[in-house]
Amino acid sequence: MKKWYAVLGNPIHHSISPRMHEAWFEKYKVDASYVPILVRAGDLQRTVDSLKLLGCSGFNVTVPYKEEIVPFLDDLDSSAIEAGAVNTVVNRDGYLIGYNTDGKGLLAGISGLTEDKRVLVLGAGGAAKGIVAALKSRGIQTIGIANRTMDKALQLAEWAGGEAISYKEAERVFSTFDIVIQTTSVGMDEAMSPVNFEGWHPSMMAIDIIYSPPETAFLKKAREQGATTMNGLSMLIGQGALAFELWTGIFPDQDYCKETIFSS
Ligand code: NAP
Repeated sequence: MKKWYAVLGNPIHHSISPRMHEAWFEKYKVDASYVPILVRAGDLQRTVDSLKLLGCSGFNVTVPYKEEIVPFLDDLDSSAIEAGAVNTVVNRDGYLIGYNTDGKGLLAGISGLTEDKRVLVLGAGGAAKGIVAALKSRGIQTIGIANRTMDKALQLAEWAGGEAISYKEAERVFSTFDIVIQTTSVGMDEAMSPVNFEGWHPSMMAIDIIYSPPETAFLKKAREQGATTMNGLSMLIGQGALAFELWTGIFPDQDYCKETIFSS
């Protein structure tokens, strides 16, 4: 029987996940389809129950439901427990299991990420939580967390490990880090950066998890001052590939996805 998968969010029209998974279904001849579902505020539990009833084989969860969905699932994988959020759900015989592939998806795209690397994370929202949890699991010893709302940086640092610092402090010390990961939503809609870092150098790497626009103001400054840069596209494809593997047992070709979908 044909299987079907979904992504739940609000808004959802912008999601690239349907095109990404449909492309892989076609490449690997998996008889399945993938649909975006707009979930209005207050409708999440009913939607999850309906998906179960209708035999949905699995689904992704995006903004703003990654944390809210947790109580509506039957079990959580350790990746979701560590991140405190779910972006992928697998339906095993009517039993919904939540996973988090966001952080691992990002880390898979960073070459040379050894335990001794010093990593600064900007932001303390849902995405930052998954990334900090994945950095901890990867054995990274030095993690700085800077956020506009200091309390949230402190909470994340206490929950996952790491040291909370203010943006002001981060602007002073950021060049002592090897990798800086920008996880806030600043830069999506306007050419703005949450911080004003001066003094990037070529041994540093700047990562922005935003992929549209492809180069945010944060990345542009880092590139112009000689740092290596990476945008959020490889995280998007990386988390999707891990979800696809959980659903089908196939780890898909990520370059194929980049070439067929994102080059157009
Ligand atoms: P979230 O939970 O709402 O967190 C938002 C973060 O942005 C918080 O740290 C918030 O700081 C900060 N922020 C918002 N407006 C700000 C401003 N004007 N100045 C300074 N900081 C500001 O969102 P999220 O789920 O973490 O997502 C964050 C971004 O990551 C979004 O752009 C999303 O599209 C992107 N993302 C990309 C991928 C991918 O696959 N590439 C995956 C997940 C998310 P406060 O705590 O101070 O409010």
